[in-house]
Amino acid sequence: MTTTRATAVDKSSGDEARPVVDVSTLAVRDGEDPWTTDELDEVRATLDQDIERFAHQVEVSEAELVGLLHDGNEGAGRDSADVGSANFERDAEISLANNAREMLDQSRLAVRHIERGTYGQCDNCGQPIGKGRLMVFPRATLCVTCKQREERRS
Ligand SMILES: [Zn+2]
Repeated sequence: MTTTRATAVDKSSGDEARPVVDVSTLAVRDGEDPWTTDELDEVRATLDQDIERFAHQVEVSEAELVGLLHDGNEGAGRDSADVGSANFERDAEISLANNAREMLDQSRLAVRHIERGTYGQCDNCGQPIGKGRLMVFPRATLCVTCKQREERRS
């Protein structure tokens, strides 16, 4: 075993103070190549974009909800069809907001895993999630087996 690993200080140090992640320690499945810095950077960039996007979505949804709830309070004189569609709109907005919040949490959790060097391990069984799966679903925190088991339960 040779230690050809580059030291933390290199010329590519950007402006952002991010913890240096040793990609060679990240979990991969049998037969997969170890993570490269480029691959992890790509996944990380996707997650950062997702966090921004979902945070924005949560904000918009919540503002929308405040508006809808406000309208609802003022609509005392409306007939039941109006109230029904207002309720429907509100419920749809609530589920949209919840969904965005869940995606946001998942993305943040994945980034935390990257920073801790635990990215790629299944949260449930500890087995490698697989680099191939993570490149497609960077937010994944469960391996395929555990994910399927979870989906069957719910
Ligand atoms: Zn698992």
